[in-house]
Amino acid sequence: MVIDVSTLFLVTIYVEAILGLLLLFIWVQNSSITAVAWWGCAHLLRAASISLFGMFGALPDFVTIDLANAMLLTSFAVTWIGARVFDNRPVLPFYLLYGAFVWLCLDHIASVAHWPDLRALISAGIIAGYTWMTAWEFWRARHDALVSRWPAIFMLFAHGALFLLRTPLATLLPWSPANQITNSIWLIVISSEALLFTISIAFMLLAMAKERAEQRHKTDAVIDQLTGVSNRRGFLSECERLCNSRILNTQPSAVLLMDLDKFKSVNDTYGHAAGDLVLQKLAQSVNATVRPTDLFGRLGGEEFSMVLVNVGGDRATAVAERIRAAFEQLVIVSDGRRIKATVSIGVALCAGHKFDVTTLLSQADQALYRAKNLGRNRVERAMEERDVAPNREATGALAAAG
Ligand code: GH3
Ligand code: MG
Ligand code: MG
Repeated sequence: MVIDVSTLFLVTIYVEAILGLLLLFIWVQNSSITAVAWWGCAHLLRAASISLFGMFGALPDFVTIDLANAMLLTSFAVTWIGARVFDNRPVLPFYLLYGAFVWLCLDHIASVAHWPDLRALISAGIIAGYTWMTAWEFWRARHDALVSRWPAIFMLFAHGALFLLRTPLATLLPWSPANQITNSIWLIVISSEALLFTISIAFMLLAMAKERAEQRHKTDAVIDQLTGVSNRRGFLSECERLCNSRILNTQPSAVLLMDLDKFKSVNDTYGHAAGDLVLQKLAQSVNATVRPTDLFGRLGGEEFSMVLVNVGGDRATAVAERIRAAFEQLVIVSDGRRIKATVSIGVALCAGHKFDVTTLLSQADQALYRAKNLGRNRVERAMEERDVAPNREATGALAAAG
């Protein structure tokens, strides 16, 4: 089979362009993997520079051989920078080397232009050296986030060798490959490269699907399906995270515990679906008021909790009161029937010492219990805190209860 150079160029351009577009497509689907976009651009750049060499038979007027070489080098440079960056290694020494290579390519080659053989050799040598060093970077890479590691090593090594085979250097070999042979080798290399990349892309897609499934699984474990807010587990682990970051142990904070009033009768009167709607409405209305620093979650059933960071007792009670009043005003309609639902809230305070969510929740629970006893649809503050800083409204309520 006779493989002429233009066929070869065309195949190479197609392979590089398709790989580039495929990687960019994958990146659009999952933009968290920057490396994929990076390799995609490298392939497209390579397709573009090979087009310059090959599409026109000779280089078009507006492109010098040095510019085309520099473009090709840049495509390998993009690959090399990626190999270092995505493996968390510094790129600075590389930049210096790259600058030197481009300088050689553009400047030095021009000065030896009257020796075409030497010029071809230098330019191919630079490209070969460059691709091999890039292949070396992939070899050294410590992790496989560089998805295309093995195809890249193969492709880079083969490209370097082929560039050299196309120069007068080939005449020094014991066997002198005719152009037909190098063309065939190139075609094999390009086809294997396409195959290898396709396989690794397939693996990458599988890995991404698996990761997405795991992510969904993890999210499901901490999110309440009905209301979309954190569930008990998510809420408590967020509390723990804030405790570990010392935010809750150094600033005054408050725990609010909310429980819908007479919710059983809401379910009995309007149906379970209407009850679910009430739960969703409460979650939505509270969630809308939660600051980014605060926490909110559904502990279970019709019980919700909130942690307010950096607030004193009065402010926490005011927030709870606002939540209660807003929910009372909320119009909830199910099957054309207007549902009357209210919430009672217990507030426990932590004055900047060790934040112990279990103790605070149980204090808030006692306050909530009192709110229920005092007629529901109200806010009560935990006893301990009241003893330290008396609250007139709450004291009055206690006196009434007593
Ligand atoms: P109280 O004012 O004393 O809190 O009275 P209550 O009727 O609300 O009493 P309790 O808190 O014990 O009621 C819990 C009810 O919440 C029982 C259960 O039917 C209902 N419930 C728990 N989880 C769900 C849910 O996911 N959806 C619906 N619709 N109802 C739920
Ligand atoms: Mg209740
Ligand atoms: Mg309850």
